[in-house]
This record gives sequence, C-alpha cells and structure tokens, in this order.
Amino acid sequence: MEFNVFEYFKDYKRGTSGPMTPQEQGTALFLGGHLGERISPHIDACAAKAGMSRRGFIGSASGFAAAMLAVNKVTGMKFFDVSEAEAVEPAAAKEINSVRKTATDFIVDQHTHICIRKDGYIPGVNTTEKGMWFVNLLDDLGKAMGLENGTKDMTVENFGKLILDGSDTRVAIFNPFGFREDYGGKDMVPIEEQAEVKQRWPDRTLMLGGGLTPNQGVGVTLDRLQMFVEDYKISGLKLYTFDSTPARGWWFDDQKLAYPIWEKCRKLGIKNIGCHKGIPFGQFMARYAHAEDFDAVCDDFLDLNFIAFHSGWPYQSELAAMKGFKPQRKNMYSELGSTFAATVTNRPLECAHILGTLLRDLGTDYVMWGTDSALWGNPQWQIDAFRKFRIPDQLVEGHGYPQLTDEVKAKVFGLNAARLWNLKSMAEAVPEEKPRIVAV
Ligand SMILES: [Zn+2]
Repeated sequence: MEFNVFEYFKDYKRGTSGPMTPQEQGTALFLGGHLGERISPHIDACAAKAGMSRRGFIGSASGFAAAMLAVNKVTGMKFFDVSEAEAVEPAAAKEINSVRKTATDFIVDQHTHICIRKDGYIPGVNTTEKGMWFVNLLDDLGKAMGLENGTKDMTVENFGKLILDGSDTRVAIFNPFGFREDYGGKDMVPIEEQAEVKQRWPDRTLMLGGGLTPNQGVGVTLDRLQMFVEDYKISGLKLYTFDSTPARGWWFDDQKLAYPIWEKCRKLGIKNIGCHKGIPFGQFMARYAHAEDFDAVCDDFLDLNFIAFHSGWPYQSELAAMKGFKPQRKNMYSELGSTFAATVTNRPLECAHILGTLLRDLGTDYVMWGTDSALWGNPQWQIDAFRKFRIPDQLVEGHGYPQLTDEVKAKVFGLNAARLWNLKSMAEAVPEEKPRIVAV
C-alpha cells in the first residue's frame, strides 16, 4: 500500500469545514496523533481559562501554544519553549510570537512544490495506476491541510499566497517532479509549467531542475540538463534515485550512469545537487531511499554540494554517520521537509533525536529548513513549531546533541541556505516588513 502520513494521525479531524488557520493545522495534528487523547483535556482547560469555545481556541495562536504545553506536561520532557501565559492569553501568544520572529527572521524554504499541470492527471489516459497513487496521496495531504480542492489548489497563484505571502518564508526553493513513465511521457510537473512559479516571483524563488533519470538514457539526460540550464536558468538540481523505469532506480555513485551528470554540472556551473533520501513512499523502492551513495560521490566531487532532502528519515543515522565518522567532509547537507512536519506533533522524542543527530554529526552549518509545502498547505505552523522546539536537556546530556539555540535555529532557518545559494545579500538586508506579493 502507499505511504500515507495520516496513518500516524488516525484521529485527525478538521475543526471547521472552511479554510484553516495555520495554527489550527498544527493543533489538529497534535490532537490527531497518539498523544491526542491526553493533550485534549489540557486544551479544554486552557480554552476555559481564555474564555473561548474549544473550536475558536483551536484556531488561535494560544490553542497551538496550549497543545505544545500539553506535550511538555504529558511527556514530562521540555520539548517546547512555551509559557502558561501564551497558552491561555491569545494577546500574550501574539506578542511572544512577534518577538521570536525578529530573532530568526530570514527563512529559506528549501523544499516547496506544486502538483499540477495544465492537462491534468487522467487515469488510463496520461497517468498510470501507480502515478495516480502518488497524485492521490498528495491530494489527500493537501485536503487535510486546508486546501479545499487538494492538488487542484496547488496552483502557481496559491504557491505565492500560501508560502510567500501567508507565512514568514522569505525565499522558497521550488522542487520538480519527473516520473514521466507514469505521466504519459511528460514530467509530472513539466519544466515549462514549473517555470511559471519562478517567472511570477523572480526575487523570492529559486527553481531547481529535476526529473533527470539516467535509466532513460545518459545522452538524453545530459541534453535535458543542458536545456534546463540554458533555457530555464535553473539554480541547481533536485533528483530522485528511485524512478519509474523498469530498473526502478539508480545511484548517485554509479560511475556509468551518474558521474557523467556531475561532470556536466561542473561544466555548466551547477554546484548544488539535491536528492530525495528517506520517506520510501508510494510506488518507490525503499532501497533507493538510503543515502549510502552520497559517500563516494561526495568524495569524488568535492567541488559540488549534495543535499539529502528529508534528511534520509527514517534512515537519518546512516546519513549522519557519513559525516560523524568523516568530519573532514564539507559538501554534504540535509534538509528537513516533511520529516519535521510528520514527527514534531506526534513523535516529539523522535523529532528531537532526528534534529539532534543531524546537528551533532553533520554539524549546525549543514542542516537546512524545508517544509514540503504547498503539499502541507500553509507552512506557518511548521515555522511556529520550530521556533518553539527544543531538544530536552536529558537528550543533550545523554547524546551530546547541540541545543537548538536561537543562533542554531537562524542557521537552519536560512543562513546555511543563504551561504549555499548565494542569498547572503538578501539575508543581510532583511526588510522591516516582508515584501508582499502582488495579488493576482
Ligand atoms: Zn518534496
């Protein structure tokens, strides 16, 4: 069966049928997870103290704070830096949120998507059964996250509305989907369509090229790479080592299939190459979700950077070990999209171990923020949760994890990405108010 993140949130329920606030998204995930039953009475108590209805309270900043406070109480570990006052007084919650915002303001979302194309996904016509699994999975996720029409709401306009305008995200890096064998011979999101995101918000987005699949032929792959660079001015690559060809996958350290791509990247000036690692979902083979191929390719292409999207979760320790035992390595990065979102509300201890392992072994300069939005709707609840998240003292002491200080959070949120993607001038010139996008 396909991966469905909501298997972990069986009691997940939307509180309203209308558009959700980002806080409601986050609070509903806390309530839907296995801690939900024990969190729920704390929410009721805080709502009563605030003099609000449960439904109204859940959509407020205090409702979200109350859920985090409840996790601290239920688990007996301090996962969230959140006060009693925030949890019962919406005005206090708002004030504390705006103070935190100035401490960690430059946010680069390394991992964003839309899932739409003009000719749609029509089963049996341009989409195979397996291709539909993936589309339906993203559709379900979007609907649960407040996008009323699921993938149909993941439009170019909504990308700006949800991510650039509706959250504290300053720059969004756009990631493509390929898998053309499942989508009528054309990439799931063709580059000419994804380029519309970049055209609409040239100063607030970076576009990555994708869908390169050497099992389709190395020659055609190299030609496409050249076309992406020359015609679409891509900033880097985001690839998948599992694919929809009969071979089902490939490796970054394959000297015949992959090394010609990296050599061509060198020639074309492409420095940053990402790969989906971990989350072995949908129709894809888990073995290709492991990150062990980063070991050789990082050594053999020291002038290129390799980014493990999703941080390899649930195999993040394998990724981290390749730097923990080889501290000389300086070109291996990780990114937190979906991994943070899927663990922070429901498995806070796992979330703390993931972040702790990555920060300790890869180093605080090599872990980057990402949300996998707009698949997860508006990313603001993830931003708010990360601002408050901490690694409990017991884990810092027992595992040697670095604490998630404001300084470390600022690096993860944007400064590491600023270094990697040459966004330093933007990071230094943080505007007093985030530029608003022009309504369309
Ligand atoms: Zn993604």
